[in-house]
Amino acid sequence: MPLTIALLPGDGIGPEVTAEAVRLLQTVADYSGASFQFTTHLIGSAAIDAEGTSLPDRTRDACLAAGAVLLGAVGHPKHDGREPSARPEAGLLALRQALGGFANLRPAICHAPLATRTAFQPDRVRGANLMIVRELLGGLYYGQPRGYTPDGQAAFNTLAYTKAEVERVARVAFDLARKRQRRLASIDKANVLETSRLWRGVVTDLAAEYADVTVEHVHVDACAMRLATSPASFDVMVADNLFGDILSDQAASIAGSLGLLPSATVGGTVDLYEPVHGSAPDIAGKGWANPIGAIASAAMLLRYSAGMEREAAEVERAIEDALAAGARTRDIAGPGEGALSTQEMGQAIHDALIEARERSHSYHAV
Ligand code: NAD
Repeated sequence: MPLTIALLPGDGIGPEVTAEAVRLLQTVADYSGASFQFTTHLIGSAAIDAEGTSLPDRTRDACLAAGAVLLGAVGHPKHDGREPSARPEAGLLALRQALGGFANLRPAICHAPLATRTAFQPDRVRGANLMIVRELLGGLYYGQPRGYTPDGQAAFNTLAYTKAEVERVARVAFDLARKRQRRLASIDKANVLETSRLWRGVVTDLAAEYADVTVEHVHVDACAMRLATSPASFDVMVADNLFGDILSDQAASIAGSLGLLPSATVGGTVDLYEPVHGSAPDIAGKGWANPIGAIASAAMLLRYSAGMEREAAEVERAIEDALAAGARTRDIAGPGEGALSTQEMGQAIHDALIEARERSHSYHAV
């Protein structure tokens, strides 16, 4: 049975970077014998232009019927003055809600050849490879009641979690840790917040089921400090919606460019894969966009939705190899380094993938 992938290129650089991700997936399909069936749908500004809504029903329905969703980005400056519900981004929020994923996976890697391109001292970030699991459907962003007092002089939000909400996201994190370095940092503010004490209790209870995973509980403020001083000391981290939102952006700084970062949202009806960046209107159409975030998102799709761990690792290796060979788009090019176009970077990763396979075949043939 082919895996149906609903492809939502979206706006701005979205179509440019997803084209490279699709090309890589097709290459993987060619050599692995896997079969992917792509269906392409409108979302965001492109959907507003064509159908008057940022998430047409048939896009939503196609995503819900697919085996996985691969998205580029949404957003266009021409809608900037509109109210939030009429903007292209509303389509993505509605899609995420319809798919129901409760765990947002945000890996952050310091690629060794780019260690000098981050804001950190290279020795501090080299080797950092962490995965943040953020709870996505609960906590402060959704808690009720919320609002302003009638006189407008105060505002309030509610932070609430149930044990079941914590347990399901913590399980995702424990399972991931098992497949990585078996280390999990659970982030909270248990010295102040009841919700954090509940969070910590659930993670502690669950740890008994995952005796092979080393668990540590880290206060969010100490965590922010440690991410800045020794990011390589983390493997998998799990955090609530608010803390995870902030920390995943902070962790992203170890990569060196927004264009490098992938994400996956899992646990719902269908899993959603998308680069972290937006539609980048400032560079759209110029061929400057870095496709690595989209290609690494496709690698996550291979791993989590297609069950193709080996191929996922091969794509990730190919990204490393291309970077090690000096492939750079403008966002990651250092002084004096030439920059590749989006397509050329896609091609460089494609070539690295094929070369690595040929090397391993000739090695086995000897
Ligand atoms: P952005 O991520 O689009 O761009 C921020 C900066 O990073 C820009 O300078 C851009 O050129 C650069 N950049 C982003 N991706 C890059 C890539 N792959 N390669 C090279 N450089 C890259 O964020 P923004 O400018 O705040 O937002 C632009 C639009 O995108 C807005 O409409 C916003 O709402 C939307 N947005 C969408 C998503 C999404 O679809 N998930 C996420 C964030 C922002």
